[in-house]
Amino acid sequence: MAQHAEKSRRQELNCCAVMEEAAMRSRERRAKRKQKPMPWIVLKLAVGITIAIVAYTFYVYIGRLCVPMIRRDEGALGGRATGIGFLVVFCVLGLMMLWAYEKVVLTSPGLARDFVKKTPEPVVNTFVPAWWDSQRDLTGMPYQYMGQGEQPPEPTAADHEDGLQPPNGHQPNGHQPNGHQADGDAQAGMTDAIPAVAQARVAKPDAPAPQQNGSARKGPQNSRRVPETAVLRPENRYCWKEGFVKPLRAHHCAACGTCVLRYDHHCPWIGQCVGARNYKYFVIFLEWALLFCLWTFSTLVADQAKSGRVDAQKIVIIVLSFFFVVFTSSLLVSHMRLIMLNTTTVESLRSQSIRDREKRVLARMHPWYAVGAKRRTRKQWDQEWGRIDHEGNLWWFGSYRANWESVMGSYAWQWFLPIGQSPDDGLSYIPNPRHDPEGRWRPRREWPAKLQ
Ligand SMILES: [Zn+2]
Ligand SMILES: [Zn+2]
Repeated sequence: MAQHAEKSRRQELNCCAVMEEAAMRSRERRAKRKQKPMPWIVLKLAVGITIAIVAYTFYVYIGRLCVPMIRRDEGALGGRATGIGFLVVFCVLGLMMLWAYEKVVLTSPGLARDFVKKTPEPVVNTFVPAWWDSQRDLTGMPYQYMGQGEQPPEPTAADHEDGLQPPNGHQPNGHQPNGHQADGDAQAGMTDAIPAVAQARVAKPDAPAPQQNGSARKGPQNSRRVPETAVLRPENRYCWKEGFVKPLRAHHCAACGTCVLRYDHHCPWIGQCVGARNYKYFVIFLEWALLFCLWTFSTLVADQAKSGRVDAQKIVIIVLSFFFVVFTSSLLVSHMRLIMLNTTTVESLRSQSIRDREKRVLARMHPWYAVGAKRRTRKQWDQEWGRIDHEGNLWWFGSYRANWESVMGSYAWQWFLPIGQSPDDGLSYIPNPRHDPEGRWRPRREWPAKLQ
């Protein structure tokens, strides 16, 4: 029966081979057009705009705030000494910011194609189409929440015996989510929990079944589930657009059209990617930009408050500097956190997806008000697995300090001056030994003995 179907399908293909081929060609052309990186001028446009904004800020601040003070004009914010002091502070902060900006704009983040050789395309023996690759890189395989026929994570007697759960009796009757009883429908509450790909995986008989992994085999339904993608396997690191196996932590940037080492994000303000080799300058630039904007904003606000005369140009700079204070401070805080966790903007999506799913699992396990029970369950999971951002991070070095120094350098001056290269060259990474050789997070009992 299947053979017959296959035969007729092949005949059909032969008949329409020309049409098929033409359609395929046009699809390829369309895909290519889509993949085209941004033109150079568009990429660098924001750099010109940024420089123009800074130049205008210098003009307004010096010409309309410092000079009147130095000239001892009437209505100026302060006297000559204050004016000179403001001018010096403003120029030092501004020049430090521009220095760091120049470094982050002109230093290449490190392009993978300069360091690896092209290799033939791997044979991908899964149902997952090639286009899935980049997505898979980002977040890991969609979290395999449950296989078909598994129990929803509602309290059961078995869980109670495992010490995972408060006994059922502690929960008020009829407080099951979705109104199901614990011993009722085995599919209860799981319809929205299965991601599309996991569903396809279940439907595909030759695909590895999600419930075959260690965590699910172990028994308790309510244990932590982690992504089971072998992220380190070469075929999962293959860049299909450029034709090589990406170095560890490298990712393809669609805007630049190339793979970038320790890719963090594409930053339009600097007109290129933030990656391994300019990340340190990026953070230093954010530090000086924040100080520069804070200084400019607060002194101009003080001036406007004192003089009482509204100066439209100063108001423009106040608004702009306020916007950039908010923007750079939030960026700086989030990147300091990422560095201390030794993760990147892209990689942090993965741990975020684990956390999001865990939140949903906990919501099914416990009623909404059982905050303490949720905390205990989470603690139990952390004991079994380690923490998501630490032991669960493939690149975790062991401490915040070690992570920070691996990017920013060991000396405090290196954290503020845009001199010298980052210790991180984007090529030499050692995966966390709490993961298996293919990059899957393992539970504590499977870690090397000295780490347990
Ligand atoms: Zn690439
Ligand atoms: Zn880019």
